[in-house]
Amino acid sequence: MSKVLIIGAGGVGRVVASKCAGNPDVFSEIMLASRTQSKCDVIAKEVGKGRIQTAKLDADNVPETVALINQFKPELVINVALPYQDLNIMDACLETGVNYLDTANYEPRDVAKFEYSWQWAYHDRFKEKGIMAVLGCGFDPGVTSIYTAYAAKHHFDEMHYLDIVDCNAGDHGKAFATNFNPEINIREITQKGRYWENGKWVETEPHEIKKALNYPNIGPKNSYVIYHEELESLVKNYPTLKRARFWMTFGDEYLTHLRVIQNIGMARIDAVKYKGIDIIPLEFLKEVLPNPGDLGENYTGETSIGCRIRGVKDGKEKTYYVWNNCLHQQAYKETGTQGVSYTTGVPAMLGAMMVLTRKWKGKGVFNVEEFDPDPFMERIGEFGLPWKEEINGDLEI
Ligand code: NDP
Repeated sequence: MSKVLIIGAGGVGRVVASKCAGNPDVFSEIMLASRTQSKCDVIAKEVGKGRIQTAKLDADNVPETVALINQFKPELVINVALPYQDLNIMDACLETGVNYLDTANYEPRDVAKFEYSWQWAYHDRFKEKGIMAVLGCGFDPGVTSIYTAYAAKHHFDEMHYLDIVDCNAGDHGKAFATNFNPEINIREITQKGRYWENGKWVETEPHEIKKALNYPNIGPKNSYVIYHEELESLVKNYPTLKRARFWMTFGDEYLTHLRVIQNIGMARIDAVKYKGIDIIPLEFLKEVLPNPGDLGENYTGETSIGCRIRGVKDGKEKTYYVWNNCLHQQAYKETGTQGVSYTTGVPAMLGAMMVLTRKWKGKGVFNVEEFDPDPFMERIGEFGLPWKEEINGDLEI
């Protein structure tokens, strides 16, 4: 029986709130706080089962977050606001001695840079305080990292090649929309590609490496190597990996829109003057693009995300593929939001459950693959994200 404070009332916050509310045995009291309280109130009313309190919070303001934590006294803060808030919320957790969990690594606002260094730097302070921070507990990072840990524990003596494959074969009927926060999403996918090979990072032009990969129940989809944050911790925690890559599917139409957005300067994250006011083009673009949280109603099709791993077991070459497929419409029916928010929010809730039920223990800052994957893998199916596996199949890559 534990109290949780959820920060962020977007698509992911909605799923986390809904799932926590549905599990009163573990989440005895729930508070949902965000910058716009009315959004919290809507979520509490629609999926809160009468169990969610709400509050207004600017999580960039550490004293304000400290005050709310001191007032509500949660055991854990689930941060599903934006990556910009990570360090401020971690500071508030340190000051109040409360555990922390998030789904995306810290990014400074003024440079699209994805690395764990800033959050890893909190390790000693969290350890001294006797609390834990769980980093990256969405789907990717999150479930993909736990799939890798599960493969390492049960299927390999040594893992050599890891390919994380992320396919969204859904159709929301819009010419262009992103599946989670547009600002964060566009910053991520317009970056140069990067993958790990033979002990160093190899950089590529954005979307330079392309291959049609087959996804279960979906078929072939053009997939592109992009950089994704879990690669950084996975290559550190599994040093036998000779290569680690992340593939994401994009449609041609999507890439054309993205190219235009970049070419006309709308992906810029530096300020430009407009009628005497400083405007950041990408922040403005977010305001005119469809809200990812509203895509669910007409979203059809499914996502398929998994890990394809090659390595050695008992002296023999082995391949292993583990994945989940999630139907957008089923996610919408259950929580009122689409599959990408769902696949992020469900693992965040289950990770929180792992912390609160002491299945995951530790003092300091941890990436999810550092914990025992078994209790998580045992339960993720019952919460809506069942997984399948294939041993010694053709990985295609
Ligand atoms: P949204 O933009 O829909 O929601 C973000 C929420 O955070 C909004 O309610 C927003 O408030 C709130 N917020 C923003 N700034 C502050 C602040 N200073 N103080 C308090 N609240 C604030 O994003 P999503 O729900 O799509 O994504 C949430 C997180 O999940 C992001 O960090 C994203 O990167 C991560 N993610 C992780 C994935 C994974 O698999 N690991 C996949 C997808 C997303 P307001 O409503 O007022 O704007």
